[in-house]
Amino acid sequence: MMYKYPLARPMITKEDEQAVLAVLRSGVLSMGEYQRRFESAFADLTKTRYAAAVSSGTAGLHLSVKALGIGPHDEVITSPFSFISSTTSILFENATPRFVDVEEETFNLDPAKIESAVTTRTKALLVVHIFGQTAEMDTILRVCKTYSLALIEDACESVGATYRGRPAGSFGEAAVFAFYPNKQLVTGEGGMVTTNSKQLHSLILTLRNQGRRPNETEMKHAVLGYNYRLDEMSAALGYSQLQRITSMLTQREQIARWYGDALQAVPNVRIPQVGAHRRHSWFVYVIRVPATRRKRIIEELGSVGVQARPYLPVIHLQPFMRQKFGYKKGDFPIAEQIASETIALPFYLGLKKDDVTSIVRLLKRLL
Ligand SMILES: *Cc1c(COP(=O)(O)O)cnc(C)c1O
Repeated sequence: MMYKYPLARPMITKEDEQAVLAVLRSGVLSMGEYQRRFESAFADLTKTRYAAAVSSGTAGLHLSVKALGIGPHDEVITSPFSFISSTTSILFENATPRFVDVEEETFNLDPAKIESAVTTRTKALLVVHIFGQTAEMDTILRVCKTYSLALIEDACESVGATYRGRPAGSFGEAAVFAFYPNKQLVTGEGGMVTTNSKQLHSLILTLRNQGRRPNETEMKHAVLGYNYRLDEMSAALGYSQLQRITSMLTQREQIARWYGDALQAVPNVRIPQVGAHRRHSWFVYVIRVPATRRKRIIEELGSVGVQARPYLPVIHLQPFMRQKFGYKKGDFPIAEQIASETIALPFYLGLKKDDVTSIVRLLKRLL
């Protein structure tokens, strides 16, 4: 079905097209100049020393877990309210995810509950900055320091977000971004790993390129590696988009404000809250409605051309997670409650104030 208002839609400009076309005409389709430029500009944006482009956010998360030496006997504290790959990247290395429930306001890890999840096996904390805003980083940094835990940031939904003025992606030993077509900045498939550690960066470059060290010219594979490289067309698109990141984020903020103004007084709707000390980078616009009415609202919106969807389901209740770990309903009640009430509304660059007004009018009629 074609929706008049889809959930997401990438904004591709003439400049973007020209950048990709230039790559196609150059004949250098992988590991070229655009990759280098994209990485360097991205490190600048996140105020980090190093950035490594990778084939997806999931690949970046996997490499971060692997490069930090997390393995079979380790536990990693993380959030059950996230996209699946913040957890699967831990499982790829046979480590154990240890979930901590989230807070009502931002849907991020509840800082008050983190410390009690630390055990003698805890090796790292994989924090997710969900929907475009960071977790409460003061407590997270303190807990990591107290227990000597490595910090990985899943910043895949939060390019451009800040906490106390510091960019998402600049807090952890490693941080990961993603550029899937529904994200704020898109490359098609693609991701980025930022870090301030020269050693970790070098290892990530090695692992993404079949285990070949960064300056290796021969077919020598120092370690077991992967093909997690980003192709040059994607790097060109990402670099081109990055030139407009400030204005793209401002526009997203504007659309979120239109939604917020139109929805704040509507009964039975809870609009997104921005936590203290944060700049929100607005990956999606997610409201909460009473769980019992959600299904019908989504169906009826869909029938008039407005795509809407529950966002996100909790990770611990996914079939393979229940089977592997025996999780059941009620294990992380706040995350489950949120997951039963959320609806993501159409949210993308190019959405006009009138569009938001019509979508909200339709929604109000259903409430
Ligand atoms: C998008 C996303 C990822 C990575 O997704 P890819 O499709 O592999 O690029 C990881 N974590 C979160 C929270 C995400 O939203």
